[in-house]
Amino acid sequence: MIWYPYEQMKTMKQPYKIIDADGVYLYTEDQKLIDSVSSWWCMIHGYKHPVLTKAIKDQADRFSHVMLGGLTHDPVMKLSEKLQEFLPGDLDYCFFSDSGSVAVEVALKMALQFNTNRGSRRDMVLSLKNAYHGDTFKAMEVGDDEDYHFVFKEKKGVVHIPTEIPALEEAFANYHDRFYCFIVEPLLQGAGGMRMYDLSFLQRARELCDEYDVLLIFDEVATGFGRTGNRFVADRVCPDILVLGKALTGGYIGHAVTVANHRVFQGFYSDDSRHALMHGPTFMGNALACSAALASIEIFEKENYMEKIKKIEAITRREMDGFSDPRIKEVRIMGGCVCIEVHDSQTLKGFQQYAYERGVFSRPFLNYMYAMVPYVIGEEDLVKILSVMKAWF
Ligand SMILES: *Cc1c(COP(=O)(O)O)cnc(C)c1O
Repeated sequence: MIWYPYEQMKTMKQPYKIIDADGVYLYTEDQKLIDSVSSWWCMIHGYKHPVLTKAIKDQADRFSHVMLGGLTHDPVMKLSEKLQEFLPGDLDYCFFSDSGSVAVEVALKMALQFNTNRGSRRDMVLSLKNAYHGDTFKAMEVGDDEDYHFVFKEKKGVVHIPTEIPALEEAFANYHDRFYCFIVEPLLQGAGGMRMYDLSFLQRARELCDEYDVLLIFDEVATGFGRTGNRFVADRVCPDILVLGKALTGGYIGHAVTVANHRVFQGFYSDDSRHALMHGPTFMGNALACSAALASIEIFEKENYMEKIKKIEAITRREMDGFSDPRIKEVRIMGGCVCIEVHDSQTLKGFQQYAYERGVFSRPFLNYMYAMVPYVIGEEDLVKILSVMKAWF
């Protein structure tokens, strides 16, 4: 029997069974659904994309996987070269892993060991209120999401601040000599409630991290590849370590990467074997995943996805303009993300089934009804999603 995620199995509603998927559509036995969630935000090119499917099939005809310990191969070499060219600044050193949570673990481990390698004893992490960085233990610790992590209350050595500059300055004033890193979901906090904040906060964070020699980590597992309307938020403010996941492979196979800049890499590069990064997921650099990621980035570049995302944002703003309801606290829009936050989570009860009956797959959580659509969506389908969301009220 399957144990489903984030569910009380005793009261869980039967999940919809998908029998086929194509473009932005999911098919059940009796319904065609527009996927407004992009399968947890990763399926940016839609389903059954011929180029992605072919990339995976072609690689599978050679080999699906070989370990990266002592071996290497073209797909992982080409992908790391591509990322080096595609990513901003000197974010050039790619450490691959099998999921976003693990890639976050690697980033935090990297930041900690960067400091111990140079003899520093810094022992604290700065992070944000309402942060979500994954479900593994250290990721939960730097995260701040009671509803996901109610079993995990002890948090030593992590300071959580709101996305406000005075709080940021105060945290640095108090603990600047103890922070080994500051980890953030830049501009858009996803699972913590689709919270959006200003770039000026990140600019100030960059200044303070430089001033006090603290590594800045961007967890762009959700925001990377265009979701905020920026290719990467790292294009605007450059972190020392960047974490990518979800859309990295276009959503076709689970994979993630932790990318370090020159300075971080140099902190490990020495004649002392104890300075090496001791980490190595079995499936890191998986050949099918790397082939999919490479094809995904090529499509992203060639078909001018940033224009598509701009259009999605413009249509969303047009459709949401003037829309309000007393039950709604706020409507937020950024790039390819729209969120309707309600005052009372009861307001959204039953919405998923309502949307299903109208041909839209949606998965609201807590007080948040949202859409993060595949970028290949047509205007008509996007308007339909937004209309169903509005019609619920
Ligand atoms: C989804 C997510 C993760 C975790 O990624 P998994 O692949 O689910 O382990 C980490 N950080 C952010 C910001 C995410 O949205």
